[in-house]
Amino acid sequence: MTTETNILTAAGKTPTGKTAITGTISDAISEKTAIRILSNYVGGHWVSAQASGLLDVTNPASGGVLARVPLSGVAEVEAAVAAASAALPDWRARSVGERTEFIYALREKFRQRIDELAASVTRESGKVPSDARAEITRAIEVLEVACAAPMTMQGRILEGIARGINTETIRQPVGVCAAITPFNFPAMVPMWFLPFAIVYGNTFVLKPSEQVPLTSELMFHIFEEIGLPRGVVNLVHGAHDAVNAILDSPGIRAVSFVGSVNTARYIYRRAAENGKRVQALGGAKNYMIVMPDAVVDKTVANVLGSAFGNAGQRCMAGSVLVTVGSAQTAIMSRLKEEAEKLITGDVMDAKVSLGPVISSAACARIHEAIESGLKEGAQLLVDGRHPAGVPAGGNFVGPTILNHVKPEMRVAREEIFGPVLSVMHVETLEQAIALVNSDPRGNGTSIFTENGAAVREYSRRIEVGMVGVNIGVAASPAYFPFSGWKDSFFGDLHVHGWDAVEFFTRKKTVTSRYFSAGETGRFFVEQGDKH
Ligand code: NAD
Repeated sequence: MTTETNILTAAGKTPTGKTAITGTISDAISEKTAIRILSNYVGGHWVSAQASGLLDVTNPASGGVLARVPLSGVAEVEAAVAAASAALPDWRARSVGERTEFIYALREKFRQRIDELAASVTRESGKVPSDARAEITRAIEVLEVACAAPMTMQGRILEGIARGINTETIRQPVGVCAAITPFNFPAMVPMWFLPFAIVYGNTFVLKPSEQVPLTSELMFHIFEEIGLPRGVVNLVHGAHDAVNAILDSPGIRAVSFVGSVNTARYIYRRAAENGKRVQALGGAKNYMIVMPDAVVDKTVANVLGSAFGNAGQRCMAGSVLVTVGSAQTAIMSRLKEEAEKLITGDVMDAKVSLGPVISSAACARIHEAIESGLKEGAQLLVDGRHPAGVPAGGNFVGPTILNHVKPEMRVAREEIFGPVLSVMHVETLEQAIALVNSDPRGNGTSIFTENGAAVREYSRRIEVGMVGVNIGVAASPAYFPFSGWKDSFFGDLHVHGWDAVEFFTRKKTVTSRYFSAGETGRFFVEQGDKH
């Protein structure tokens, strides 16, 4: 067997629908001059993966190839875990203040380089620049919250649980932690975990989405610049094989995952079976309830922002609009009118609200979902299937609204993850609550009304993790926990807020007494004392 035939053998379509390259090692080297092959970052060094395949990273706005990502496997993951394990004793022995200094430094770097980071997000994910900037701002917010580690990492002590005996609970790092992240927030989602993990004394391995690895690469250059000790943070590119290697690695103690429902369920099961602490955030179907007294203009603006922001590719995207009673007549014509004003196209044009979706596979899937809705009887209120004037080669779908959708239709059951809003109509708040609670997922929801009693009733009874009131996307800030319920989340401890210290530390309880105290009047034991 020659190396030439063995190095790059993954053929055909990959899980993301992008095309994996089949080739030889000499292909990889010759192609390197034309299109860069990304390196992993392990133990403080940029290293080539000995991977079994490569995947194109494409610009969703043009289809152009930006780089090639190696599909790492067990060897690469184990090398990263070894580096992270080796770095752990020194890192956790440093004072919490010293570790926090690194987070301060990161925060400064992220602020200084916000434009560059945002441009990277836009380039590989297709996000409009304002959304990309907002994403980096969120990452900075996480860094700021992580800087509270000297407070948040504190334990508790109770003096005198019995005469002369104290008990204290201290928080210690968990060990090597890993995160596996999705394509739609290339910077923010990795940064939901990494700052907290390391500030609490853990070391870290990131496996970013193979569809958007470039922003992670840039962030790791920044981690390197601030002089984080070698092995504290490690980056392994790849897809399923790398994920499975993480889930099975005995050296990894905790796994954070964000992605679609089925993958989240799988990750939770396999990692938990291997004895790891897991938080696995899944996909969503988020309902926006509009009551008859909702303020029409503001509601329409929020509904559209929620449904079509980031071309509908947010786990908090409002994907179903439910009008209650007369809200239907109050809102629908205005909704159509305003949706039709939204422009899809080149995100560098300030008038554009919707950029491309992530891949041609995603584009095809969204089209299929729209067609299935129409076949099953939904009405096309706004048609975004063929947006005019969009750049050639990109994966563009315009804002689409399907009216009179029924819960049993495919568009209502599946997460479309594109700019498609399904509209349903009910007569009462009671029916709206029943509809939302019948969905297996429960990430976010919003209610639009000025009626406090309706808000209380809705918030109390709804089986959803994050509720917005007259707010489209109620994503919690970094100092509150973020997560859905039901199939949108597998685990116990949510992302950031106080849950971060719970997830990234282990509690140890120490009960102590000292025999010298109080008995001889001296506070030390001298040679010859009998106790
Ligand atoms: P995805 O599930 O396809 O991929 C997420 C990660 O899992 C990637 O790193 C990928 O390499 C890996 N992966 C995918 N399939 C796998 C498999 N079968 N085995 C092992 N690893 C696998 O998700 P995506 O398409 O990148 O992101 C979009 C999804 O993420 C949507 O469903 C969205 O709702 C969800 N999401 C949820 C949240 C949340 O907070 N709940 C936030 C962002 C995105």
